[in-house]
Amino acid sequence: MSLGVALFGATGSIGESTLSVIKAHPQRFHLAVVSAHSSVDRLVSIIEDFDPKHVILTNAAYAEQLLGRLPPDFKGSVAFGEASLIEAAGSSEVDVVMAAIVGGAGLISTYAAVCAGKKVCIANKESLVMAGGLMMTRAKDQGAVILPIDSEHNAMFQCLPESYVIGEQISGLKQLTLTCSGGPFRTWDVERMEQATPLEAIAHPNWSMGPKVSVDSATLMNKGLELIEATHLFSVSDQQIEVVVHPESVIHSLVEFVDGSVLSQMGSPDMRIPIAQALGFPERLELDIERLSLTAIGKFHFEPVDHKRFPALHLAREAISEGGDRPVVLNAANELAVDAFLQGHLKFTQITSLVSDCLNHIKSQPMSSIEDVLEIDKMCRRQAFEWVRERA
Ligand code: NDP
Ligand code: MG
Repeated sequence: MSLGVALFGATGSIGESTLSVIKAHPQRFHLAVVSAHSSVDRLVSIIEDFDPKHVILTNAAYAEQLLGRLPPDFKGSVAFGEASLIEAAGSSEVDVVMAAIVGGAGLISTYAAVCAGKKVCIANKESLVMAGGLMMTRAKDQGAVILPIDSEHNAMFQCLPESYVIGEQISGLKQLTLTCSGGPFRTWDVERMEQATPLEAIAHPNWSMGPKVSVDSATLMNKGLELIEATHLFSVSDQQIEVVVHPESVIHSLVEFVDGSVLSQMGSPDMRIPIAQALGFPERLELDIERLSLTAIGKFHFEPVDHKRFPALHLAREAISEGGDRPVVLNAANELAVDAFLQGHLKFTQITSLVSDCLNHIKSQPMSSIEDVLEIDKMCRRQAFEWVRERA
C-alpha cells in the first residue's frame, strides 16, 4: 500500500531531501499534500514532478502568481493560508506528515498533525522547543507516532530498541550525548565573530541547510534548541545530556546505558538518511547516497564546547531548567535576532545578547495551552523587535 505523505515546507532544504526519498520509492509513498510559503517557482516544479492531490500556499499574497502558473493538466485542489495546513493534517488521505516548515511558523501544523493522531516526522524542532510538553501529552492521548528527523535525535532513536516509543523514558539510560559540528566559526575568536557576515554564517562546513538553521549552527543555538528538543523526545532532564563538538559530523549522537555500553549511529552528513529512516520505520529503505568510508575519513575529533565564545548553549540550559514559558521566549527572541542578522540589522554576536536580554527582562507568564504559547511568542517577538530597533 502506498502511504500518503503531507509535506509541509516542501520548498525548503528538508522538503527537497524528503522529495528525493519519495521519488526513490514510488511504490511506497505518494505526495498527498504539499505546502510552500512563497517559493512559487519551486512549488510549480514540484507539482509538475509529483502531481500532488492538494497544494497549499500559506502566504496568500502569492495566490495569483501560483494560480496563473499551475500546469494545465493539474486536477488537484489549491488552498491558501495556514488554516489549510490544519485541515490537511487531519485528512484521511494523509498517513504521514513531514513537518519541515522552519521556525515557530511550523508549530500549529505540527501540533495539528499530532492531535490528528498521525505518524508525524518532526524536522521543525522549534515546535518541540516551544510546546514539547503539550505535544508529547497530545501524542500519547491521540495515538500519534512521533519520529525525529533532526539527525542527532534520529541517531539516538536508532540506538534504542525498536519497541521504544518517543516521549517515554529510556530503560537503563545513563546519558545522551549530542554531537555538534562546531559550525563555521568553531576556530574563530570573538573579535572576528563580531564582524561575521550572513554569507559567512550560512556557510556550514558539513551540512547544506536553510539559512535559519545554518545561522543557529554558527551561534550553537541550534545545539541549545536540540538540547531542549531531546528533553521532550526522550523524557530526560538537560543534566542527562552532554554536548560534544565533533567537527567531522559523522557520529550523529550517542546513547550511554548504565552498564557502560555506548551506542552511536554514524553516516555521511546527508539528511536523506534520517528522513528515509523515519518514513520507512520500522523497515529500512534503500538509498543511493555517498557511502561512509572510515578509511577516507581517517580520524575523528572531539572537543568540549567553548561557552565563552558560544553562550547560546548555556542560555538554552537555563531556559529548560527554569521551564514554563522560558523556552518559548528563547526561541522567539532567537528567531527574530537571526532574521535581523540576516537582514544586516544586527551583528552576529548580538544574536545571543538579544536572547539573553529577553530571557532576563521578559516576565514569566503562565502557559498551559497552545494559545498561551502563541500569545507569549507574539509578545516576545514584539519586545525583541524593539530591542533591534533601538540598536539598528
Ligand atoms: P528552509 O529555510 O530551507 O525551508 C523552510 C520551509 O518552510 C520552506 O518550504 C518555506 O517555504 C517554509 N516556510 C517559511 N516560512 C513559512 C511560514 N511563515 N509559514 C509556512 N511555511 C513557511 O528550512 P530547512 O529545510 O533548512 O529547515 C526546516 C526545519 O527543519 C527547521 O525547523 C530546521 O531547524 C529543521 N532542520 C533542518 C535541517 C536541514 O538540514 N536543513 C536539519 C535538521 C533540522 P517557501 O520557501 O516557499 O517560502
Ligand atoms: Mg541537528
